[in-house]
Amino acid sequence: MRILVVEDEEKIARFLKDSLEAEYFAVDIASDGDRGSYYARTNDYDLIVLDNMLPVKSGLQVCEEIRESGRTVPILVVSVKTGAQDKVDLLNAGADDYLSKPFILEELLARVRALLRRPATIEKDILTVEDVMLDSRAGVVKRGDIDLHLTRKEFMLLEYLMRNKGIILSRGMILEHVWDMSVDIFSNTIESHILSLRKKLNDMGKERLIQTLSGRGYRIGA
Ligand code: CA
Repeated sequence: MRILVVEDEEKIARFLKDSLEAEYFAVDIASDGDRGSYYARTNDYDLIVLDNMLPVKSGLQVCEEIRESGRTVPILVVSVKTGAQDKVDLLNAGADDYLSKPFILEELLARVRALLRRPATIEKDILTVEDVMLDSRAGVVKRGDIDLHLTRKEFMLLEYLMRNKGIILSRGMILEHVWDMSVDIFSNTIESHILSLRKKLNDMGKERLIQTLSGRGYRIGA
């Protein structure tokens, strides 16, 4: 799952990126409203964490522009205390939730998870495909009774495949939801992670759980 953090205070942006990455999210940062709006309208994020007091464009403007572009991505506004009217304006402009600064990390993460559980996106924390079980909240993966020790990216890749069980996912879709902007899109990053994931899943035989569909992408489960 990939999150955009729009935040001009570097310390807070860094803290959010580190904290969300520790929870297995890929995170991009935009440091002003204009860039935030542009990133949000040109990438397929799963969630946006948006500061309201931003240089160039306000959070309110960013919200409006994202919704005008037709994107339904959940938006969580995180901002210093504003009046009730500001909150109403933000919610009317298309924000889904509001959290006051200073915030407690646990509350932010709980709100992020709650927004991601909306029917259109995620339905549950525990995913299964055949004998593979992934608990996205606890960060645990098992095949049968065996605990698998995955790297962060392997975990994120498997989670994305499992959330889209039976669906062919192109390289572009995988890059967009599992990696942040710093990835070199011409590298063989996805291929090498699929390979290491297959090894750890012991998925090397004929009837593979993760299927490669030549020229189209990857799919888990038939
Ligand atoms: Ca700010």
